[in-house]
Amino acid sequence: MVTIPYPNILLDALEIGVMIVDENFDVRYWNQWLEINTTIAASDIIGKNLRSFYPQIDYHVFARKIRTTLRLNSPTFYDASLQNRFIEIPRTKITTSLLRNMQLQVTISPYVPEESLVMVSIYDISDLHELKLTQQSQMHKIAELNAELHRDKMIIDANLLIAKIDTECRILEVTRAFVEFFGYPEADVVGHRLGFVFGEEELDFDPVHIREAIKRRQRWSGEVKAILSGGERVWFDAVVTPLSEEGECPGYTVIFHDISDKKRIELLSITDPLTKLFNRHKFNEVFEKMILRRHWDNARTFGLIIADIDHFKRVNDTYGHQSGDRVLMSVAQTISETIRTGDVLARWGGEEFVCLLPDVDLAKTQYVAEKIRKAVEELHPEEVGSVTASFGVSVYVPGDTQESLVSRADSALYRAKTNGRNRVESHQP
Ligand code: GH3
Ligand code: MG
Ligand code: MG
Repeated sequence: MVTIPYPNILLDALEIGVMIVDENFDVRYWNQWLEINTTIAASDIIGKNLRSFYPQIDYHVFARKIRTTLRLNSPTFYDASLQNRFIEIPRTKITTSLLRNMQLQVTISPYVPEESLVMVSIYDISDLHELKLTQQSQMHKIAELNAELHRDKMIIDANLLIAKIDTECRILEVTRAFVEFFGYPEADVVGHRLGFVFGEEELDFDPVHIREAIKRRQRWSGEVKAILSGGERVWFDAVVTPLSEEGECPGYTVIFHDISDKKRIELLSITDPLTKLFNRHKFNEVFEKMILRRHWDNARTFGLIIADIDHFKRVNDTYGHQSGDRVLMSVAQTISETIRTGDVLARWGGEEFVCLLPDVDLAKTQYVAEKIRKAVEELHPEEVGSVTASFGVSVYVPGDTQESLVSRADSALYRAKTNGRNRVESHQP
């Protein structure tokens, strides 16, 4: 029988655990590493059976491994990865991990095969194991983040109206919500210019504002009108943001927010409900802006017409208030059909209308008022037979305020009334 000298300098110098056992698990050598880490002294365990120290080991498996090792005369691997499947060695190293016992890798090699002796090498692979655990937890976190991103993307895709466009305003990508809201199939918008969605011809969105912003690589936001596939025009708040701020810019995202409700309310607040013309409030706003334009002088002026329906009280008294309302509506329509697009018409109140005509002189204003007068006279509303109106006209002179200009037109109107109605009068300083 071989004797293994104790202490064995070679085995004790190793930075791994080494025990030599026979096939009955009698311990023949227990190196220094094991002494230190198990706190079992070699002198206590050599000559004894491993079973009495470590009853939890699956000796059935252990024995089979030893037999295989001896039969093949080559090392085999003993799976110690499961808890309690091998000797437990507490970790003394201070770590942040929850691993209290060493994670071991155990190899069984033939030592003196004739005497059925094997050498069991025990490696501490806790660090490696921890690394794997950290990696796994990181992978898990990345997977979670990805899932979260995916969820966010789905939410965005389903709810936000977003188009990605290139620097030529061509649509690269749209969200599902975009497709559903606008009603164009995705294949019909991707690759097309954004103007496609905005009715290219009436568009001051893509060609002017966005393109300018894109050239300067700036964020742009503003209100735009777009056409749904059904032809309906909808107002949006649009925000255009560059996809990158530095280097080559691959394009822009355009985020749309439906503001039809806001626009409806806005429109209500500036519209006269009966005639659908601008109300007085809106008119004053436009008037104010018109006066503030800097280019007016004695040669370049704008005109103001105030119209008042003649004997309108009689219309009401004779035909009823509802007929009166209908007359007001047709007069409003007649006036708006007579003036030009740039002119601003509003219901001033009751049966009075006001009209601002930019860039005209007195003669032209009088001419327009006369044209309206004739058109009203020729209107002949069915229910009331005939209706006429009187007109007061004035044009802006430097130094005028809203009040001074209105007051001149008003006094001209008064003159038109006193001079027999159904006529145009003017008043200039
Ligand atoms: P004239 O201007 O020629 O001097 O006579 P008028 O009868 O038109 O004079 P006035 O300005 O005194 O009367 C205006 C009338 O217009 C009074 C009111 O009954 C009527 N009126 C004002 N607003 C409305 C409206 O919204 N609907 C109807 N049906 N009538 C209105
Ligand atoms: Mg009146
Ligand atoms: Mg009147």
